[in-house]
Amino acid sequence: MHGTRILEEADRLMTVCNSCRYCEGLCAVFPAMEMRRSFSDGDLNYLANLCHGCGACYTDCQFSPPHEFNVNVPKTLAIARAESYAAYAWPHVFSGVFARNGLAISMIAALSVAAFIFGFAAFNDRQVLFGIHTGPGAFYHLMPHNAMAALFGAALLYAIVALIMGVRAFWRDIGKPIDMLADPGSLWQAMKDAGQLRYLDGGGVGCVNEDERPSDLRRIYHHLTFYGFLLCFAATSVATLYHYMIAREAPYPWWDLPVVLGTLGGLGLLIGPAGLLAERWKRDPALVDQPRTGMDVAFILMLFMTSLTGMALLLWRDTPAMGPLLALHLGLVFSLFITMPYGKFVHGIYRYAALVRYAKERRQAGHTV
Ligand code: SF4
Ligand code: SF4
Repeated sequence: MHGTRILEEADRLMTVCNSCRYCEGLCAVFPAMEMRRSFSDGDLNYLANLCHGCGACYTDCQFSPPHEFNVNVPKTLAIARAESYAAYAWPHVFSGVFARNGLAISMIAALSVAAFIFGFAAFNDRQVLFGIHTGPGAFYHLMPHNAMAALFGAALLYAIVALIMGVRAFWRDIGKPIDMLADPGSLWQAMKDAGQLRYLDGGGVGCVNEDERPSDLRRIYHHLTFYGFLLCFAATSVATLYHYMIAREAPYPWWDLPVVLGTLGGLGLLIGPAGLLAERWKRDPALVDQPRTGMDVAFILMLFMTSLTGMALLLWRDTPAMGPLLALHLGLVFSLFITMPYGKFVHGIYRYAALVRYAKERRQAGHTV
């Protein structure tokens, strides 16, 4: 007996697949499945988070619908994966945010943007809000640096704690002691697998779309999004070091490292999410967890809008539009931070943990990873 209907279905499919084993070369899910004869809830959540949703095992399967076995591994694991995000959410009282995630994230983003706009209007007079501010410290005419650092530092800290608590619950549920996470070889292998999106290649041909023609575009757009996000994070980190270590205040000239990193990252976060959105519409509806489309779309749009407002701020920071654009951008960044543990962002964290376990158990069993 499993905790949910979808885990019952995942157990049924993994039992069928374990007898068949036709797909064992496609990704990490099937070799991990073959190491087991029975599946606990934690095992199934582990396999669900190991799946990258490429769709190859659906098009290759001789038992997929209309066959009476009705084998649809990508969709079943996609639903199980999404349900696992809610099950591990910390604090658990917020797990309901996953139920209508698109609506919840949109409302939080709208409230956050509104709070920054009203905050800027309340704490600054019109000349400051719509004035032209240039040179070092220009942004801090609208919001003092210490207030900005305290607010965003607290939001980021909260997100990190909530994500760590979530992955801790996941790790315990898949039956492993927490010290198993501290295995440098497996951590490094998982980092390489995640960094290359090794298992999003459909066994070498790419992701399956509605026309059943595989394409690598989804992986490329995901890379642009992921590395764009990392570059933007690096830009913010360098700017923080500039501020506290060498007393150089933002905004910086276009050639300076935080701006170069931020611009490259921002471009990745425009092209990547736009491409992912386009690819999503092309996917075979049979493969995806349709009712949770809102969760995917909300997160992709949030990244896109954060980048768009950041780029607009860079272009128009020397004009009267700077104040409203700064409020818009900060509102979006703040909502991105506080919703990270309750939206699609968590897929990267749980998938990485699943890859660590996979690397570890393959090595323990004497296989090459
Ligand atoms: S998905 Fe289908 S073809 Fe692949 S292992 Fe399972 S039953 Fe076999
Ligand atoms: S959808 Fe792709 S990643 Fe997921 S189990 Fe099937 S082949 Fe593996």
